[in-house]
Amino acid sequence: MWYQDSFDVIVVGGGHAGTEACLAAARMGCKTLLLTHNIDTLGAMSCNPAIGGIGKGHLVKEIDALGGLMAEAIDHGGIQFRTLNSSKGPAVRATRAQADRLLYKAYVRNYLENQENLTIFQQPCDDLILENDQIIGVSTQMGLKFKGKTVVLTVGTFLAGQIHIGLNNYQGGRAGDPASVNLASRLRDMPFRIERLKTGTPPRLDARTLDFSVMQEQPGDTPVPTFSFMGKAEHHPQQIPCYITHTNEQTHQVIRDGLDRSPMYTGVIEGVGPRYCPSIEDKIMRFADKASHQIFVEPEGLTTHEVYPNGISTSLPFDVQMDLVRSIKGFENAHITRPGYAIEYDYFDPRDLKQTLESKFINNLFFAGQINGTTGYEEAGAQGLVAGMNAACRVQDKEGWTPGREQAYMGVLIDDLSTLGTKEPYRMFTSRAEYRLLLREDNADIRLTEKGRELGLVGDERWQRFCEKMENIELERQRLRGLWVQKDHEATEKLNPMLKNPISREANLEDLLRRPETRYEDLMSIEAFGPGLADKQAAEQVEIQIKYAGYIERQLDEIDKKKRHEDTLIPADFDFAQISGLSNEVVAKLTDARPETLGKASRISGITPAAISLLLVYLKKHG
Ligand code: FAD
Repeated sequence: MWYQDSFDVIVVGGGHAGTEACLAAARMGCKTLLLTHNIDTLGAMSCNPAIGGIGKGHLVKEIDALGGLMAEAIDHGGIQFRTLNSSKGPAVRATRAQADRLLYKAYVRNYLENQENLTIFQQPCDDLILENDQIIGVSTQMGLKFKGKTVVLTVGTFLAGQIHIGLNNYQGGRAGDPASVNLASRLRDMPFRIERLKTGTPPRLDARTLDFSVMQEQPGDTPVPTFSFMGKAEHHPQQIPCYITHTNEQTHQVIRDGLDRSPMYTGVIEGVGPRYCPSIEDKIMRFADKASHQIFVEPEGLTTHEVYPNGISTSLPFDVQMDLVRSIKGFENAHITRPGYAIEYDYFDPRDLKQTLESKFINNLFFAGQINGTTGYEEAGAQGLVAGMNAACRVQDKEGWTPGREQAYMGVLIDDLSTLGTKEPYRMFTSRAEYRLLLREDNADIRLTEKGRELGLVGDERWQRFCEKMENIELERQRLRGLWVQKDHEATEKLNPMLKNPISREANLEDLLRRPETRYEDLMSIEAFGPGLADKQAAEQVEIQIKYAGYIERQLDEIDKKKRHEDTLIPADFDFAQISGLSNEVVAKLTDARPETLGKASRISGITPAAISLLLVYLKKHG
């Protein structure tokens, strides 16, 4: 039976990718359906209740800059906020917040329910409906069919999900939720390259059975940071601390003794796990010389006693989990409320996707989130937004858009995935970006909000605030350029103690702010210059733009040089073998990856600059 209405965009899955995807499409004015297993799990955090961190925080700010939800939801649900790397340069500073998972989920659900153009429906999607090589809808477990011009698939860890605790295993999408078995088997009949990955989670503990007095307390930052460019500290609920404890030699022995019943070390699990988020058994084996590993003891919320011991993700049998937990300082009497487990699931080779996250094989079908081989809410949300927006562009006959590597971490993420693919769960790091100095958390709005507005993703209130901020920055920079001091200026007496070398000749405030030892705030405390901008975000920009101007310009130059060839198109049916001089290996790699542009070709591992030059010369000659 067909549902009476048809949709522009159907999003399957209400996780972090799905919510951003459906919201993006709906904001752009498309009639959108979110089809998900269970409305009560919208916005659920499958693993740790935390958003952000190095590289990930950057993605959250970019989602926000494009009008997305994640930053706003964590501002309303975050119970401990910190700026990581706060003593380092602005490029690698990152915001991280511990979430109250119930508050976070409730905020997401409420927001979705109130989004214009969005319909939510609870049913498992069991099949995709195709007409030749184009998707035209989906069908659900009870046989209901939905017609859609485009479909965005965001089903996370659920496809043929298999949960492992010790040598026991059973089907599941994550603890407490069913796997997507029918859909997984239908997708296996389609022309996709599908592999298995695995990820894991630690046991959860009852805080009332822990001794926090022997752990190190870790308070959040003051003043409390915010995630959203529209965020305010008063949006945050009550703030509470996290704690730190450690594993010890006894813990490690318990783990080693249990390895003969570990699904990972007995070969029961075949999927590859996340390198940068390893299980505790992995850590003990890989770093055998380390006598101890840190555990962050993180509250799961304000209204629950459950805590998340970050650092002891495991799929060892439950009795081993009990012993390893109780060997840890402060956990001696711990009660485990939920066992740790690992999950194996199907993912799609993301090299089979275009930059817009549309399938290369089935038109109007987009993929986003964990099913593309990534791990993390932020990576999922970023892809969801891009996929939902591109699906909407397709419906509205607009050209699709994905930010470039020089524009956003989102661009780095999608380019890495679609060009290089991944053999292990991919997570974002600042080190993955070659233009780190430009891709900062603090300027995500400057990089993306204007484009978001043009696409219809950014609403009036955010746009107005953004324009105001840009104006404040510009006016303040003009003012600082016009403020001059000399040796005998009335303010020089107050200024000199702040400077390494006292003022010897005339300088304006921009020159002074360029000196490493000066801070905008300190300069503005001098009456003759202050009080300066009340708009803290604009003030931060003024300082960063002036201080790092030299480095930023150099990076912009580099981008300019690269860009000249980056976007040179390679025809879809191009025969790489016709270029004499390319090795068989290079031809095979290029043929396999089918890069759309020269830039993408250059990032395929094993493709040398020499090969790219040959390709460029050929394309120019025959283009
Ligand atoms: P999900 O959040 O999984 O959402 C998928 C959604 O699709 C769900 O709402 C589901 O109900 C729905 N759905 C599935 N199938 C269907 C269907 N057929 N029809 C309708 N709806 C469907 N991330 C980290 O960064 N670090 C970690 O250490 C980490 N560990 C993890 C451990 C475990 C055990 C799990 C399960 C996840 C872990 N994650 C971790 C990953 C994190 O949870 C995901 O990266 C993130 O949730 C992915 O978002 P998503 O939107 O792609 O998928």
